Amino acid sequence: MNSPTSAQLLSALTAAELSADELAQLRAWVAGIRHPGECLALIEAAAQGRGCPRCGASRVHRCGQASGLQRFRCLACRRSSNALTGTPLARLRHRGHWLTYLQCVLDSRTVRAAAAVTGVHRTTSFRWRHRFVPGAMRDRPASLSIVVEVDETYLLESQKGSRDMTRPARYRGGVAPHRGIGRAHDCLLVARDRAGNTLDFHTGRGPVSAEQLGCCLRPVLAPDVLLISDGAAAYRRFTKDAGIRHDWVNVRAGMRVRGDIHLQNVNGWHARFKGWMVHFRGVASRYLAHYSGWQRLLDAGRLRTPAQWLVAAAKLG
Ligand SMILES: [Zn+2]
Repeated sequence: MNSPTSAQLLSALTAAELSADELAQLRAWVAGIRHPGECLALIEAAAQGRGCPRCGASRVHRCGQASGLQRFRCLACRRSSNALTGTPLARLRHRGHWLTYLQCVLDSRTVRAAAAVTGVHRTTSFRWRHRFVPGAMRDRPASLSIVVEVDETYLLESQKGSRDMTRPARYRGGVAPHRGIGRAHDCLLVARDRAGNTLDFHTGRGPVSAEQLGCCLRPVLAPDVLLISDGAAAYRRFTKDAGIRHDWVNVRAGMRVRGDIHLQNVNGWHARFKGWMVHFRGVASRYLAHYSGWQRLLDAGRLRTPAQWLVAAAKLG
């Protein structure tokens, strides 16, 4: 079937009897349309002077165009590439819709709502979410300094969307099989310094261990930080082994604040994350890190426009 011409589209729209809702949806869709060239120009600019993404050599030369992007050939490894090679966005199609879609990411729209606004299929909307979000998530603070609050929050594990469930299905969210934190819970570890720099880590199932704290926190804590926790044994062991100054509030004994020693910033982050997650109606455990990273980016407010998000996601890994 041939694509309709713009005259045919306009006459079809004129003839259509649209409800107020449909009209509003159409207006939003039209307002979001961007020329594909706008997206391509941003991608090319982000990769300017990058060299060969396959071997790292700096000398590449131009060799034609493909799908609107300049192709390069590397003088060292002879392989060709474009501005998206080696990035999470390589081989994704429909670039004319990317900026519209990224506005949906900034607006925290569901897969279904983003598909409706952008005019792509739901499976495309899902695939794009799990490329654009992890791509941009790499935009994170390199280290935390001075006073760092750290605490975990736990979410019931979810096998949403899985074809091979390892347990009977739960309905309406369900409850854990045992009381307390156990293998049925995913642990999300969050560390936040008093300047608001935040890092999130999905440490897997069950309570966080001293070894996991070491893997996550050791590389990102500046020397001489004061780490504040709830005083659980894992934190005490980790800080003792790593030689990190450590103080805590005994939350279990009802203590929440002792002067400057408190976890209010990190617990505030947890509360915003859990409140924000409600409208996604449960997310699969294997994507938990994508959601916490997404919320971290929104909460930090560093990426405010679709163009900024695109440039962050189109960086090399
Ligand atoms: Zn190369």
